[in-house]
Formats: sequence, C-alpha cells, structure tokens
Amino acid sequence: AKKSAQESMETPMMKQYQEIKDQYPDAFLFYRIGDFYELFNDDAVKGSQLLELTLTARNHNAADPIPMCGVPHHAVQNYIDILVDHGYKVAICEQMEDPTLAKGMVKREVIQLVTPGTRMQTGISGAKDNNYLAGMVQHEHQFGFAYTDVSTGELKTANLTTIEAVMNEIMAVEAKEVVVNDTIDESIRARFKPLGILVSQQDTAVAANAELSFLTQDLDDQAENNAVSLLLTYMESTQKRSLAHLQRAIAYEPSYYLKMDHYAKRNLELSVNIRTGKRSGTLLWLMDETKTAMGGRLLKQWLDRPLLSQSEIIARQDKVQSLLDHYFERSNLQDELTKVYDLERLAGRVAFGSVNGRDLIQLKTSLQQVPKIKYVLQELDDQVFGEMLAHLDPVDDVAELIERAIDDEPPISVTDGDVIKDGYDKQLDAYRDAMANGKQWIAELEAKERAATGISTLKIGYNRVFGYYIEVTKANLSKLPEDRYERKQTLTNAERFATPELKEKEQLILEAQTKSTALEYQLFTKIREVVKAAIARLQRLAKTLASLDVLQSFAVVAENYRFSRPTLTDGHDLEIESGRHPVVEKALGKQAYVPNDVRMDEQTAILLITGPNMSGKSTYMRQLALTVVLAQMGSFVPAKSAMIPIFDQIFTRIGAADDLISGNSTFMVEMQEANDALAHATANSLLLFDEIGRGTATYDGMALAQAIIEYVHDHVHAKTLFSTHYHELTGLSNELTGLKNIHVGAVEENGELVFLHQIQPGPADKSYGIHVAKLAGMPEKLLARASTILQQLEANAGENPMPVDVDQPLTEPATDVLPLDETQSTQLALFDTPSQDPTTAKILADLKSM
Ligand code: ADP
Repeated sequence: AKKSAQESMETPMMKQYQEIKDQYPDAFLFYRIGDFYELFNDDAVKGSQLLELTLTARNHNAADPIPMCGVPHHAVQNYIDILVDHGYKVAICEQMEDPTLAKGMVKREVIQLVTPGTRMQTGISGAKDNNYLAGMVQHEHQFGFAYTDVSTGELKTANLTTIEAVMNEIMAVEAKEVVVNDTIDESIRARFKPLGILVSQQDTAVAANAELSFLTQDLDDQAENNAVSLLLTYMESTQKRSLAHLQRAIAYEPSYYLKMDHYAKRNLELSVNIRTGKRSGTLLWLMDETKTAMGGRLLKQWLDRPLLSQSEIIARQDKVQSLLDHYFERSNLQDELTKVYDLERLAGRVAFGSVNGRDLIQLKTSLQQVPKIKYVLQELDDQVFGEMLAHLDPVDDVAELIERAIDDEPPISVTDGDVIKDGYDKQLDAYRDAMANGKQWIAELEAKERAATGISTLKIGYNRVFGYYIEVTKANLSKLPEDRYERKQTLTNAERFATPELKEKEQLILEAQTKSTALEYQLFTKIREVVKAAIARLQRLAKTLASLDVLQSFAVVAENYRFSRPTLTDGHDLEIESGRHPVVEKALGKQAYVPNDVRMDEQTAILLITGPNMSGKSTYMRQLALTVVLAQMGSFVPAKSAMIPIFDQIFTRIGAADDLISGNSTFMVEMQEANDALAHATANSLLLFDEIGRGTATYDGMALAQAIIEYVHDHVHAKTLFSTHYHELTGLSNELTGLKNIHVGAVEENGELVFLHQIQPGPADKSYGIHVAKLAGMPEKLLARASTILQQLEANAGENPMPVDVDQPLTEPATDVLPLDETQSTQLALFDTPSQDPTTAKILADLKSM
C-alpha cells in the first residue's frame, strides 16, 4: 500500500527537517545527510532548476512523494554561491553529532545563514569589490542608516533626514540586501524590490551581545545607534560565529563629502559603464593601478566620496607628488605592495576561525613587507609620509610567531598535521621523533625480511584500513616460512601479512601520529587566537597600506596620462588649460583627442554651449565634472594646468539610456532631475545640463530652457555648463552678465561637415543637424527636403524673436510646422516633435511660481 505524503512527512527525519525549515521559511535549507546536502519540497523543485540538479523524490512508493535533490558536501560552496548570486538566502544545516554514535535522530542545526549581504567573497573575482549589507531604521523623523562588509569588518553609519538620502546611500554602496525592522513601513520596503535589493526583516528585540555592543560606543545619535544595533543583531543571528573583526562603528556625515546622487554618478560613468554595466570604460577603470585588493576597494570608496577639505586634498596631493618625483622608490614600493595580501579579509577569516596555515603564511609575507615599505617612505619624505609612517605597525610579534611556528608550505587542511614547524614545540618534536624512528625501523625490518626469505620484491606498506603490512607476490608465496606470518588481506597478485613485532611497532607509530596531529591542531588554534588578538592592529595597518596603494596608483596614472597637479581654491574662479576627458582620450588615442580649456571667472556662472550634434559638447561637460571629481579625490587631473574651486555638489542632467526603464517619461525624468538641481544647488555647486527641453515641443522646451538658465543665473549662481541646440538662446548673453557663449567648432568642407572638437568663444553660427543626418546615411531626397524647410524657417525666424522678454507670458505659437505634400509627410514624421506632455503645463506653472 502506498503511503501518503502526509505520512512520509511524518517520519522522524522529515519532522526534524520541517521544524528547522519552519524557522527559515525564506531561505533554501541545505539539510546535511551524510556526504550530501539535501533539499526537499519547494526548495528542491526551485533549487533543481536554478542549480541544474536532477529532481528525485524521497519515498518513491508514497502516493505523493517528497521532491528532493542533493549536492555533494565537498562542492557545496559553488551551489551556495549560485543561489546567493541570484539574491536568495541559504541556511546550512549540519549534523551536530557523529551519525554512527547518535542515539535516535542525529542532532542537526543551522550553523550559518548565507545571504546576499553577508556572504564572504571567495576567489579573486570579487577581490576589489566590497560586499555591503545595509540596515535602516526610522527614529522620530530621521532615518538611521548603517552598512557593513562582513568580510572586512568595515562598519559605518549616518543619520539621514529623507528616504531619498537613504536610497542614495544604499545605491552608492551598492548594497545587495537591506535589513529593516518594524519602524520601516511597507511603502518604503516596496522601493527596494525593483532595484534587485533583498529586504530582510529583523526584530531588534534581540539585543546584540556584549562582545559586539562596544562597537556602538562612539555613537551618540540614537538613530545611528539603532541602525547599527539592528545590523549587528542580524549578523549575529545569521552568521552564528565570532564577529571579532567587526570594527567600531564610524558615523559619517554625507555632507562632509562632495555630493553626487546616484544618477550623477551613473551619468558620469564613475564606476559603472552605462552601456555594459561593467567597470571597463569608466573613470574607476582608468584610475585603477592599485596593487592590492584593499587598495582597489579603497579607490572605489574615494571615488564615491571626494573630499571638501582643502587641507586633506593637499595632504593627498603632496604624497602623490612625492611618489611621482621618485620613480625608483615608487617602483620599490609597488614591488612590496604586490606581495601584500588582502589583510582585511584575512583578519575577517581569523575572526571567523576559518584561516588555515596558508592564510597565516600570506599574513606573514604581508607583514614582512611593512619594514621595507617604511624604509621606502622614509627615503621618499618622512615629513609628507610622517603620519603614515607612524601608523605602519609591522605587527612583528605576529609575524615572528608565524615564522617560528607555521611550516612555509602548509597543506590546506589544518587537522591533518604538517602545519607546525619542527622545533616549535618539544612534545610535538618527541612525537615526530617516534614516528620517524618507527619509519626507520620499518625500513630496516623490510631489509631484514627480504634477507631472511630471499624474496627481493617483498615490501612493507601502509594503508588506512589495514595499517602496516608485509606484501609478497603470489609467485613468491612458497618461499615464505609458515610461522610468524598472519594473513591480513588478499589481492589478485599478492598477499599481505602482519607479524607480531610489526603490529607492536605499528601501534607506537600510529599513536604518535594521532597524538601529533591532535597536538598540531591544538597548537594551531592557539596561534590563531594570538593572531585574533591582533585583529584591530592588522586592520589599522590594512587601512594605511590601502591608502598608500591608492596614492601610488594616482602617481602611476598621473605619469601615464600626463596629469597635472590642480590648485583647489575657496573662490569661484575656474580655469583649466588644455583639459581632457581621460576615458574618451584613452579610447580615441592621445593624438586624436583635442584638449580644451574651461574658463569661468568669478562673475561667470553659465557657459552656454552650442554646436552640432556629435561635435563634443557632452564630452566637454563630462570632462569638467570628471576633472573636479579627480581633483577633490586628491588625484592629479587630465589638464596642462587647473585651478578649481572646491565644489560642494555636482548635479547632472545628461540624457541617460536608463530613463526608459524607470517608468517615468523621459521628459518627466529630465524635469525632475533639473528641479532637484535647482532646489538643492548652491553657489558652490557644479551643474551640467545637457540639452534641457529636448523632450518636449520646440517652443515649450526652449521656454523652459531659458527660464532655467535665468533662474540659475539670478538665484542659484552655481557654475553651470548648459548645452543646447536652441540656437536662439545664445542671445541671452546680452542680458545675463554671468552667461558666456561658447561653441564647438566645425567647418564645412565640400558640403561635408568636419568636427574640430575645439571649444571656441561665442555662439555657433549654425545648426548642423542636417549634416549630421547626412553622416548618418539618411536618403538624399529627405535631406534636400529638410534643407528647404530649414531655409524657410530661417527666413521666418524674425517673427519669433528669442529670447523672449522675461515678463511676457510664455505662449505656444499656433503652428510651427510647414505644410507638406502627401509623399513627404511620412518621412518627415521623423522630425516631428513629440506632442506636449500633460505634465508640462504643471511644470511650467511651477517654474513660473518659483
Ligand atoms: P555632442 O554632445 O556634441 O553630441 P559628444 O560629446 O557626444 O557630442 O561627442 C561625440 C563624439 O565626438 C565622442 O564620442 C568622441 O568620439 C568625439 N569627441 C568629443 N570630444 C572630443 C575631443 N575633444 N577630441 C576628439 N574627439 C572628441
């Protein structure tokens, strides 16, 4: 008779499974049975698809068998990684006792919950990326925000006043998972899903334990405190192991850094290439000449948070200058940094108890570089590097301990011996002597037996099951005397025997061996504890080495791409001579790139940029923004010389490819971004407006563009680059004293358009749209018609004077399209402007009331 599923689920094991599964409803439960981890029910169905495993069933005979699939224990990490990469959680459930000794059901427990935000990076692919877990709470009218990288122990927190600010920080650190509690309501939680960020609920009622509570002791803000406690509680409940490497929470103030929202960072392609989603082709990619994984991660952090403090910027520049001036010392430094392993993550593994002998050797090798690095810095400039020198603690007690204790080439396993060096521990040496003597004795016995029996092929061997044995081939068996030899094992071609004296020696050897491996493991654990006590020192050292690495990377980049040291000022004069967009230049090759100046004196707020499409307007604008970011990171900049005021914020309104997927109309996004800039920019901000108003009807867009320019000019005073194809706007320079026209030069040669990519003073004399359309390969007939229309429009231009007088109401002309004949109408639809967006009227009204 077939059992029902109900009955199959009621076996003791499935009951135990279900009890554990109930505690982890939102995770895949990997349930250990012998050498496999098994998944059941829905986990098995979904898991078999995601992991490409064969779906089987437990209890085939049941009416409704339980779906099941399994993975071998030694390969489990790969499978966990795949699921976590997909944004799932995995609960690892182990057998907590030896099944052969267990009475009744084997005891099982979840030993770790692996989640997207708490996974430890494995392998080198993610070495230069942090993996952040974020947490947020609402406290009164503020948000406590915190984030941590479990593998490095970094822990930061901020008090933020708006949910937008929180979202911005979460996106800036690229958190994969955000922990919330009941203070965060559903409408906020719902905002994370579309971004692919996992939301995890954690009850803060469980207080973080004493070991961790000191981590919050520097925080005096309640919101920050709550956010960090929430994160710590979540980490404890998921990791279930020592988190001794977590660093004391550091509160940071986003306004302490150059502010760029997520869209600005994206538009400027600081670390993500908009087209590919990869790092290649970004500023980060160009700037990364770091030698260590720690340096690589810190570079990204510096790029995300450029400085505002002139003295801090200068301190970085001084070091870059010194490294740049001393090629020989720099190359020594690079050689030494290359030998430094990922100290931050090593420290994390020490705390987790998962380091092995090889990790300790890596640690030692890294520490051994420190004295050499200190020497180089002294040679360079002990003034400039004074503070760093003071922080470079070689942690030599740890280095010496490892040197004395750990074998230079230890095995991966820490439980099978061969990890500890001879001479480190007397007892261990004694066991090893016994083993060595025993082995010697066995070699002698082999010789003796061969002589006694006359069997030259007789040999003594060892295997785990049968221990030591004397092996004689079948052909030689007759030569073996009957006495003493006790048969142990029969093979096809040979027999294996033991003798009383072999057994006796065997016991001594094996005992020494067992004791020796046990002792080695004990010694290793003690050494690990000593290293664990040094974690905070190792982390401080790691930070200093990481900064040094980033600074040498700056020097290398400055040299390779001919960057120069910018002067940063508190004023409003901006002067860049022969500036370049470093990434575009790298792509085009340095001969092909045309350098350009940017000059905006104290009185100039706005540069209005005209010029044909594809001439380089947008590149010019981005070039300035990247130069500012680089300068405020402390890097040198791609220019012959640069004087730059320190900016507080960068806003961009640059057409981006991802507008469409945001669900808002392109024009709406454009207006939102513009509005954000106008609302928050100060006289110390940098605004980049690329072709504002393009997304709506011509006059509508032009009117908005003009109003925005006037608003910036009269109220915001931020340094603004404004590119436009509304040629009419260039007339604004007559009225607005802080506005200057510039254009990108192009010449016509034989009716073809040649881009010069050269920025020149004054407005462009003509729109070259039709030429660009020609370059794009549009039909001749269409181009000819466009030329005709253009001529007629230009002839009529006097009737629609722009700029309009500021006090006059903005009105849409009745018609702005010329009558067409039938045959041309469909083709010309290409040039049709979109009909007026319903939101436009409202925005216009808003703008007027500003
Ligand atoms: P626009 O914004 O005017 O349409 P872009 O800034 O997108 O033009 O530039 C179009 C292309 O022109 C770029 O992809 C680049 O290849 C080239 N370009 C831009 N600026 C320069 C320059 N200064 N020197 C050489 N080539 C440039």
